[in-house]
Amino acid sequence: MAIKQTSVSYYGMNYVEHAENDFKEMVDHGCTCVVLAITEFDMDFWFPSINPVIQKAHELGLKVILDPWGIGKYFGGEQVSLFLQNNIHHRQVSAVSGEVLPHACFNTNAFRDYFQRICLKLANETEADGFFWDEPHYAFPKSYASITGGAGDEWSCRCPECMKKFQDYYCYEMPKTMNDDVKQFRWREALFILEDTSRKIKEINSNYEITMCVHATINTYYVTELRGYDNWEMVASSPYFDVFSTTIIDWALPKAFFQDVTKRTVAMAKKYNKQSERWLMNYYKQPEDFSQMDEVVDLYEKLGVDRLAGWTYRGGYGTVLAAPDALKLWDRLGKNYKRILKK
Ligand SMILES: [Zn+2]
Repeated sequence: MAIKQTSVSYYGMNYVEHAENDFKEMVDHGCTCVVLAITEFDMDFWFPSINPVIQKAHELGLKVILDPWGIGKYFGGEQVSLFLQNNIHHRQVSAVSGEVLPHACFNTNAFRDYFQRICLKLANETEADGFFWDEPHYAFPKSYASITGGAGDEWSCRCPECMKKFQDYYCYEMPKTMNDDVKQFRWREALFILEDTSRKIKEINSNYEITMCVHATINTYYVTELRGYDNWEMVASSPYFDVFSTTIIDWALPKAFFQDVTKRTVAMAKKYNKQSERWLMNYYKQPEDFSQMDEVVDLYEKLGVDRLAGWTYRGGYGTVLAAPDALKLWDRLGKNYKRILKK
């Protein structure tokens, strides 16, 4: 068992000469790969800088994975969305209240085309090594259902386009209650946009590597987030994804939770012959005792994880989501990356 890749995410890289210094710092912190967060604004305004930044990372020995960060507020991320600014339609609608939500509906042709155009432009016009699908999700629900049910009755998406698709397939009106047909519909449609885009990216260059990163949730009989990608079996078995990745776990959660999520991540990846990846929280919150990071890194390695990744560069230093001791946290990540790569 050995860790084969150590990544860190990075955003706001608009001047190649500035990015160069940051990339050197990443290499110095034991990073072998950078996950570049690409925003809608980057695509619209800073596009000429993107490939030179990628080339510079390569020159310094870093692999480069592109993360369409927060696009349409469909993926995770704090960035604002031009799609939502420029479109008053094609948004998710909550099923029970009927409210239109500030999240693009990724089952609409309008958003699918928009998202795919961004990815294919990057695939055609840059020299990156792959793409990272970062916590894609429906707006609702995310609350945990209790054992007796009831906690999360609201859900999305019940927009006119989803309703029409559902009606065409199941031959009855999409209900306001999430029944089994609705669950299947949501899983199937959610997967389509990422499978279709991944396939087209690989048609451009079969070497492009696709990492599918879903929320690190329990997803048992009693507890599930139902955000569209919680059926890990369905996601991991897709032939278009190369890496099965699960997101950050708050340091305050019990060790058993880290163990459970990691074991299931590795098992799912192995079952479908994918690489497994686990994330480390390197922003916002930090462990009470920094040695917890060493223990978690050892645990991931022991359980057979192939790749480690940390969100984000410098512990989020300078942002509202900086860890209290952001730079110290970043240094601890660096020490762990170097240590684990030598094993
Ligand atoms: Zn919809």
